[in-house]
Amino acid sequence: MRKQRWGLYIHIPFCRQKCFYCDFPSFAGRERYEADYTDALCRELAEQGVLYREKWGRPQTIYMGGGTPSVLDAALLEQILQAISETFAWEGIDEEERPEFTVECNPGTIDEAKLALLRAGGVNRLSFGVQTFDDALLKRIGRIHTGAQAREAMELARAAGFRNVSMDLIYGLPGETQAMLMHDLETMVSLQPEHISIYGLQLEEGTAFARMQEMGKLSLPDDDTVEAMYDAMTSFLPQHGYARYEISNFAKPGFESRHNLSYWQDVPYLGLGAAAHSYLEGQRYENVRDIPAYIEGIRLGRSIRREEEPATRRIAMEEFAFLALRTAEGIDKQRFAEKFGVTLEEIYHEAIAKLKGQGLLEDTGDSVHLTELGMKYGNAAFEAFLL
Ligand code: SF4
Repeated sequence: MRKQRWGLYIHIPFCRQKCFYCDFPSFAGRERYEADYTDALCRELAEQGVLYREKWGRPQTIYMGGGTPSVLDAALLEQILQAISETFAWEGIDEEERPEFTVECNPGTIDEAKLALLRAGGVNRLSFGVQTFDDALLKRIGRIHTGAQAREAMELARAAGFRNVSMDLIYGLPGETQAMLMHDLETMVSLQPEHISIYGLQLEEGTAFARMQEMGKLSLPDDDTVEAMYDAMTSFLPQHGYARYEISNFAKPGFESRHNLSYWQDVPYLGLGAAAHSYLEGQRYENVRDIPAYIEGIRLGRSIRREEEPATRRIAMEEFAFLALRTAEGIDKQRFAEKFGVTLEEIYHEAIAKLKGQGLLEDTGDSVHLTELGMKYGNAAFEAFLL
């Protein structure tokens, strides 16, 4: 066995209701598949998880996302946790040596019993989709919970023993003002999560919001307001002890998400479940998206994983640069040279010089990373790194 850093992602594609902005592979009204899906997932885990454990050892991080893992009944969650624990045989291993194990939770579908179950099953990090604490806004974006439930979820998580909790916030929501965002930020830091992810609202094709926009029924804050929100957020969070370590992610020292960092640092990962992506030995894969087709495929022992078009050398370089540029650490020149056999400067001399001149990029000698201004105007920086 060659020890190798790798991550495991597990996709739970069920949600109680589809949020109006969401284009993730997640579905409402498919509860009837939950039990069969769980069986199929555990089977895929027993096959693929064991294969990669034997090859590379235990994964350093596990992330169960979706969708909404916390919508599953306690019995189904327990079945998955049991299968993970059996696959990676971590009974008896010290807590500190176990993988960072995150589960995404919706404040509307979590309770004391489920939290206790997750904790007992080795989960040591929770990620709550809060988005805003404003009840009217929550309704307007299709969330199923209230602000009070989000606050309560945090209390329950602490009572269950979770010491590493992340919360997600979205800004630029319909009808949102800067004062409303400040109120959300203040409420959030008063709850003291260890980690905060914050995103500007994007109108994604195929979502309810995109349709409403087309019909002229969506009233979003104007660009100046969104920019002011961005500026307020990027200065507020560091002032309250949260350092920015990636474009959309802030953490207290030592609480950066190791799983997400591994995506940006070109670490391989195995994705299990419908629509899950994998990145293994330089090749990207996607599992079949359709839930019944996934269940049936696993049941019949058919391949449910499709190889994505292999990245050309040019695309692989761009991807490497884009992902690394999202992080505060930036592109590690040595890692780039080891991977591609050429120096970063040989490929990106012009882009680096141009962005440095605009104050968007800094060169430390060992790495190049975006400045605060570069993170704000990330698209311009990423464009310069297109080959
Ligand atoms: S709960 Fe999350 S995954 Fe489900 S619809 Fe809402 S945003 Fe999408």
